[in-house]
Amino acid sequence: MSGKPQTLRHAADLARAGLVDVAQVPDLERVAARYAVAVPPALADLIDRSDPLDPIARQFIPQTEELDQRPEELLDPIGDGAHSPVEGIVHRYPDRVLLKAVHTCPVYCRFCFRREVVGPGGMGSLTANELESALAYIAAHPAIWEVILTGGDPLILSPRRLSEISKRLAAMDHVKVLRLHTRVPVAQPELIDEELLAALKESGKAVYIALHANHAREFSKSARLACARILESGIAMVSQTVLLRGVNDDPDTLATLMRTFVENQIKPYYLHHPDLAPGTSHFRLTIEEGLAIVGALRGRLSGLCQPTYVLDIPGGYGKVPIDSHYVVRRLDGSYKVTDPEGRDHRYPPRRPTR
Ligand code: SF4
Repeated sequence: MSGKPQTLRHAADLARAGLVDVAQVPDLERVAARYAVAVPPALADLIDRSDPLDPIARQFIPQTEELDQRPEELLDPIGDGAHSPVEGIVHRYPDRVLLKAVHTCPVYCRFCFRREVVGPGGMGSLTANELESALAYIAAHPAIWEVILTGGDPLILSPRRLSEISKRLAAMDHVKVLRLHTRVPVAQPELIDEELLAALKESGKAVYIALHANHAREFSKSARLACARILESGIAMVSQTVLLRGVNDDPDTLATLMRTFVENQIKPYYLHHPDLAPGTSHFRLTIEEGLAIVGALRGRLSGLCQPTYVLDIPGGYGKVPIDSHYVVRRLDGSYKVTDPEGRDHRYPPRRPTR
């Protein structure tokens, strides 16, 4: 066998790497036949094999619970299909579109909200004609201010293909912002090189990279360096995190993650309540549990470290901030404002004081 570590894609590979017991292999092959598996070396190296509750393993190593599909779970949990006018485009809000050029990822997260369509058995990449139609759709809609490349993971596209997309967007004056949602800086940091970053900058737009990470331990030395290369190239970074049972569902873990983002000059952006993706009930919290955890971050973390806790309303009705209960309008037109200690206040006060 040659020395270069490979991405682990089968239950037997995971067993050989000491990440699952050999006895689990037949059951996990059934899971892998349903939902794609990929654990790249950068993430396999972070797993503590002696810890059965390791939060990195929990995110990426398949589990038999994934075969347990609940009635409330949905094949298309956030309703992409209801807003897809052409293949590869999701146009849910007037001023922005998702462009899903590729449906593969460097790693397959076990809680993925698009797990029915990503992976080798999923929808594949857009064909040249489909990509052409998707770009033509963006060009024909001047209200589109922001294009969000997602998928799949857009940063596994070759610099040549990213450059082609960038150049096409460069010709669309109404598009001002290009955002890419990715796990590559933590999952395959070696892909973040000058050629790839130059390809993104060819768009001439304000480019943002939204890094998906759920635990501070994902920030290996290589991942931090990959983020530094992105920032040094002039591309800004924001974060997205999914609140996951057994991974980051306590205030200390989440606080450390948010501080780690900020220490790496990545502005915390979204904290997603877990979606109703099939076979993911073992990751889900209730909204009450999520609110308690997020509430504990207020007052103890710098404002720079506060993400917006959001729910993607099932069926494609969009995202809403969940913790907006901090300010609730009353029937008499006043507001009930809840402070970080949980005390309620009336706004405006009945007798304003100086
Ligand atoms: S990287 Fe994103 S799209 Fe890919 S499996 Fe993970 S959550 Fe899903």
